Amino acid sequence: MKPPPFAYAAPRSVADATALLRASDGDAKLLAGGQSLLPLLAMRLARPSLLVDLGRIADLDYVREDDGMIAIGAMTTKTAVERSALIRTRQPLLHDATRLIGHPQIRNRGTVGGSMAQADPAAEYPAVAVALGATLRLAGERGERSVDAAAFFPSPFTTALEPSEILTEIRVPMRAAGSGWSVLEIARRHGDFALAGAVVMLGIESGRIASARIVLFGVAPVPVRVSAGEAALLGESPGRPAFEHAAACARDAVSEPLSDPHASAAYRCHLAGVLVGRGLAEAAARAEGSS
Ligand SMILES: Cc1cc2nc3c(=O)[nH]c(=O)nc-3n(C[C@H](O)[C@H](O)[C@H](O)COP(=O)(O)OP(=O)(O)OC[C@H]3O[C@@H](n4cnc5c(N)ncnc54)[C@H](O)[C@@H]3O)c2cc1C
Repeated sequence: MKPPPFAYAAPRSVADATALLRASDGDAKLLAGGQSLLPLLAMRLARPSLLVDLGRIADLDYVREDDGMIAIGAMTTKTAVERSALIRTRQPLLHDATRLIGHPQIRNRGTVGGSMAQADPAAEYPAVAVALGATLRLAGERGERSVDAAAFFPSPFTTALEPSEILTEIRVPMRAAGSGWSVLEIARRHGDFALAGAVVMLGIESGRIASARIVLFGVAPVPVRVSAGEAALLGESPGRPAFEHAAACARDAVSEPLSDPHASAAYRCHLAGVLVGRGLAEAAARAEGSS
């Protein structure tokens, strides 16, 4: 099917883009890599009167160290994230998660900001952002503001963005010394969206778990933080008994499991437990092997 007719604008600055959004009164859509938006247009599930292409705004495309954080411009492609030496060495969780997204062709066009703004329940980046405690910078008619990732994804395919706001930057902390990470998922085929996925981070000090973060994706309408499992791990020795308990907490943490022809709610919850158990073992091995 062909998209319905729309006007097209390619502003050169964030200020010009937000002015176009404001003038359209909620009837415009931002275009980033187009990997999610263009199929929606073709299926006529979105009918904006104006597309505002962010592709000509050069200063939204960067990966750099800034004030002890990694700052990523919203229009940075996933391929650029995958190839960034800064991200690979200082935040390898983000590097590994990027390699799970779709296929190289998708990653060549799809952007970090597009994935965050799309807020697909099965996407890797929202869960990674919640696990890392990332901050999202937004620009709008009333200036700039920052939102914690934990508050950015209130419901599926919905974010904290106001209609005339643009996501400009994602800021993620660097990996702490002595910490380990894991991101695992189950998909029907390589490159498909995950049926279930788990992001795990562990800090180990003097043979005991000093910090833990567990976030699930693909199993519920939004990323699910397994707070009970995280709390139960603190102070424990890294090993099977503690990991099995946290995996059970992960199965119980999904209060609204997704169910569709690809996977039932019960199967998704089962996968969540399996992935958390495996992820904790992988993260612990990495933490114990690092300094
Ligand atoms: C075959 C296929 C497989 C895929 N597999 C995966 C996968 O496994 N995991 C995964 O996470 N994704 C997957 N995707 C989706 C892909 O990652 C998209 O790149 C992503 O969802 C959207 O990024 P985009 O840059 O293409 O955004 P677009 O499609 O251009 O935009 C998506 C939405 O975000 C809004 N938007 C974009 N940028 C901004 C911004 N800076 N500020 C505010 N709003 C903005 C747009 O208006 C639109 O509503 C897949 C896509 C395809 C086609």
